[in-house]
Amino acid sequence: MNSELRLAVLATALKVSFSEIQHLIRHTGVDRSIPTQLVKILICDKDGTLVRTPEKFSVDPTAQQFTPGMVQAIKNYVPHTLLVISNQGGISIGQKTLGETLVELEYLWEMFTAKSIPIFAAYFCPDMMGRFCYQIDFEAKWEQELPPLLMYEQGNYRKPQPGMLQLIQAQYPEILNPEVAEVLYVGDRVDDEQAAAQVQPNPLPFMWVDQFIQKYG
Ligand SMILES: [Mg+2]
Repeated sequence: MNSELRLAVLATALKVSFSEIQHLIRHTGVDRSIPTQLVKILICDKDGTLVRTPEKFSVDPTAQQFTPGMVQAIKNYVPHTLLVISNQGGISIGQKTLGETLVELEYLWEMFTAKSIPIFAAYFCPDMMGRFCYQIDFEAKWEQELPPLLMYEQGNYRKPQPGMLQLIQAQYPEILNPEVAEVLYVGDRVDDEQAAAQVQPNPLPFMWVDQFIQKYG
């Protein structure tokens, strides 16, 4: 798919005009400088980890409720950078739209921001094969009306595949240097544990959400 066609598909999904979203798309990686001191990069799965919802494919963003104990645990862990990864295969099988998913993730960002926990970015895989990944870059929220949306299509994104974690590792190369960064992935399913285990060149440290809340909550 060429970039103009991608934009057209996205505009249709979001029910906005082509010109309204042109400025949202960037195809280059995010430029990040390597920090000079040890930083904690916390990556969390969304559903069942950060929040819980009464239904598996809920399209009501306000149905998201904090996983009990998770807000305090994150505050006590004191991450420098909090990132979210989420399988959203429901998009490709028609259970929710891309637009609804973006609204859901923006609402998640608002929930955590209200607790003084900024989410830097959210990554989600919209298809069951794991071919695509979207990234909402919340860090840029205040520079534009809507946060930039990036798109990747190199595959292996759907957990238990490690693609989303690999993408984060590529964007935050300090993860590969334990003298610079401490990284942790927190999830609630075997898919999450397997994704972390498959990250190359080394598995990413993983912790079950219950364990994380018990340790830091
Ligand atoms: Mg989960």
